[in-house]
Amino acid sequence: TAKAEGRGAYRFFTPALNEQMHQQFQLEQDLRHGLESEQLSLHFQPRVDMRTGHILSLEALVRWNHPRHGWIPPGRFIPVAEATGLILQIGPLVLRQACGQLARWREAGITPVPMAVNLSANELYQEALIECIDGIVDAFAIPPELLEFEITESATMRSIDRAVDILAGLRERGFSIAIDDFGTGYASLNYLNRLPVNALKIDRSFLADIGAESARHDQAAAIVKAIIGLGNSLGLEGIAEGVETRLQRDFLLQHGCHIAQGYLYSRPLPGARIEPLLQAGRIALPTQAALEA
Ligand code: C2E
Ligand code: MG
Ligand code: MG
Ligand code: MG
Repeated sequence: TAKAEGRGAYRFFTPALNEQMHQQFQLEQDLRHGLESEQLSLHFQPRVDMRTGHILSLEALVRWNHPRHGWIPPGRFIPVAEATGLILQIGPLVLRQACGQLARWREAGITPVPMAVNLSANELYQEALIECIDGIVDAFAIPPELLEFEITESATMRSIDRAVDILAGLRERGFSIAIDDFGTGYASLNYLNRLPVNALKIDRSFLADIGAESARHDQAAAIVKAIIGLGNSLGLEGIAEGVETRLQRDFLLQHGCHIAQGYLYSRPLPGARIEPLLQAGRIALPTQAALEA
């Protein structure tokens, strides 16, 4: 405790910190309530084959509509959910909603595409993970080939041996696995080679610098090319995240990565707005004029 550490320890307990703790606590209470009152829903972002515009799959992204503060981004509440254990309720809720959406599309006669669902570190290492996933997927009769789980590079590194076992268990059942935010977690090559995965997602931060001022561009370009090469040589699918410009698209295609998700093609959208895109099967690239308007 602060007291045991001596008087000096009190200096950490500033009014600003107190205020921040209060805010976190309030967010946790609100999230607890929001979970019960169905304030969480999903948006879906297409992943596109940039050579043809065909929609290959979707990523499910959770959204929280707070009654007073409006939309709160997952980047703000997922860390709180992780720290408080609420993630163990959010995870199953997200998977149920994702499977429910796939089942509704199936019933509506819309050819479903695979759906990717994010799993955070605490979910990955939870004892009952596979049992829980099996239960939900069976309840909606979703073929496992239609589901992919995204796990961040840093989550897999928390406990590599266990991660390998868990991912192998998921793959045995027919699910695909993608490593999310690749390039930010310092995984060694040896280690990457052990992970039973299907795809590498190139972190958005590298793409953001493609087309930036020259020194930053050159550095990002080197990293993106290296990740594409690594993925190709390990036989993994490469998915670029955060593709916003034609320049980024052309760079990726030129260097052997053809799958992307990003605002250039589509923002994450509610299910009803994804439907016409699925029916069309592809997304036409906007013209440069439309992009600049
Ligand atoms: P992520 O899994 O890496 O998801 C990709 C993020 O990049 C999404 O942000 C997406 O909206 C954003 N994005 C995609 N294309 C572009 C682009 O062209 N430009 C820009 N600026 N952004 C783009 P989002 O939805 O805010 O999610 C943030 C993070 O929150 C996710 O990163 C993921 O780590 C976490 N998250 C979201 N949904 C879930 C969930 O259901 N469960 C868990 N455990 N985590 C989730
Ligand atoms: Mg993801
Ligand atoms: Mg990502
Ligand atoms: Mg990311």
